[in-house]
Amino acid sequence: MSSLSPLLKQATPVIVDHAKGSWIHGTDGQDYLDFTTGIGVTSTGHCHPRVVEAAREQVGRVIHAQYTTVMHRPLLELTEKLGEVLPTGLDSVFYANSGSEAVEAAVRLARMATGRPNIVVFQGGFHGRTVAAASLTTAGTKFSAGFAPLMAGVHMAPFPYAFRYGWDEQTAVDFALRELDYLLLSRTAPHDTAAFLIEPVLGDGGYLPTPPAFLDGLRERADRHGILLLLDEVQAGCGRTGRFWGHQHSTALPDILITAKGLASGFPISAIAASTALMSKGWPGSQGGTYGGNAVAAAAGCATLDVIRDEGLVENARLRGEQLIGGLKPLQGKYAEIGDVRGLGLMLGIEFVHADGSADAETAAAVQQATTRHGLLSLTCGPAGNVVRLIPALVVTADEIDLGIERFQASV
Ligand code: PLP
Repeated sequence: MSSLSPLLKQATPVIVDHAKGSWIHGTDGQDYLDFTTGIGVTSTGHCHPRVVEAAREQVGRVIHAQYTTVMHRPLLELTEKLGEVLPTGLDSVFYANSGSEAVEAAVRLARMATGRPNIVVFQGGFHGRTVAAASLTTAGTKFSAGFAPLMAGVHMAPFPYAFRYGWDEQTAVDFALRELDYLLLSRTAPHDTAAFLIEPVLGDGGYLPTPPAFLDGLRERADRHGILLLLDEVQAGCGRTGRFWGHQHSTALPDILITAKGLASGFPISAIAASTALMSKGWPGSQGGTYGGNAVAAAAGCATLDVIRDEGLVENARLRGEQLIGGLKPLQGKYAEIGDVRGLGLMLGIEFVHADGSADAETAAAVQQATTRHGLLSLTCGPAGNVVRLIPALVVTADEIDLGIERFQASV
C-alpha cells in the first residue's frame, strides 16, 4: 500500500468532489467560494462548458503528437489566436507545459541571443520551482533552501516596494532604478547582462503591482545597454489584471513575454512569445520537450481565449477587481493588523503587520484558515507569508464578489 508523499501533504482540509464556475463542492458536502482558482489558473471558472467541450472533442481526435515530429491543428490555431492578443512584434510563439519551463526557455533564449551570461531579477520575484527557475526566484528562502548550488549568473536588484519602505511610489521607483544602475556598474556589467526578468505584478512575492514608471525605466535601460526585457506574465497575464497583459498598465513592451496559468483554464500549457528575429537565435531542437504544446491543452487554450473575448472577461476582471478592492480597502483603517490592501484587477493582496510594521505571518495564516471555515478559499503569499491573496475566476459575478467580501470580513 502506498500513500501520498509527505511533500504532497495537504495544507488544506478541502477535498474537491466537483467544481463549477467560482464554486468548489467538497467531499465534505460543503460549498466553497473559490478565490484561489488553482493559484490563478482556472480563469474561465471551473469546467466552463466551452472549454470542457473543446477538450472532450480533441481527446477523441488526437491526444498527443509531439510537435517537432508531427504538428497538430490545435497548436496552429492557438498560435493564431495568441497573435490577436500579443503585443505587436511578438510574432513567434514557443510552447512548453508549465510556467517554470517557459521561464527557463526565455532565459535560455536570452542567453543564446545575446551571448551574455547574467540575468537580473528583482527582490520578491517568483519564477518557479525547478532548479533554474528557483535560482531566479527571490520571493523567500523556502523556494531554494537546501538544494544549492543554484544556477550561476543571477543578480538581484531591489523592487520598488513602496509600502515596505514607507515611501511614496515615485520615491521607491527612483531608489530601485538608482540601485539597478549601481548593480550594472558594480556586479554585472551591461555587456555581461543578457536580461532583466520581472513580473508585472509580483505574485508569490506579495501581490505587488510593479509601478508602470519602473517598467518604463527598465525598458529604457534595456534599450540603452542591449539587454532584453523578459516579462513573466505567468500569473498576471490572460486578463487577470483587467488588461489582457499585466504590462499593458505601462507603456513598456517586452522582448520576451512568458505566459501560462490562465491560458488554458487548467490544462497544462505555457508559452513564450518574441519577435521571429529573436526567436531564431535560439536552437529549437534543444528547446522542445516531449509534452510541450499538448493537443488537448492547446484545444482548451483556444476555447479559453474565445471565452475571454466573447464574455468580455478582461473588462469583468477590471470591474470586479475594483468592486473587491473597494469592499476590502476599508479594513485597512479598521484593523491595525491590516497594513495594506492592494491589487490590480482580480489579483488582490491583504498585508498583515505587527504594531512595529514588521510582517505578521501568524495573523495572515489564521485569517486564511478562517476564510476556509467561512466557505471562502484564499491563499497566503509574500516572502514572509504575511499576505492573504484573493484570485477569483475572471467569470466571477458581482454577487459572488459581495459574498466573498462578506466572508472575508467575517474571517478577520
Ligand atoms: N512565474 C510566475 C509569475 C508564477 O506565478 C509561477 C507559478 O506560480 C511560475 C512562474 C511557475 O509556474 P509553474 O508552477 O507552472 O511552474
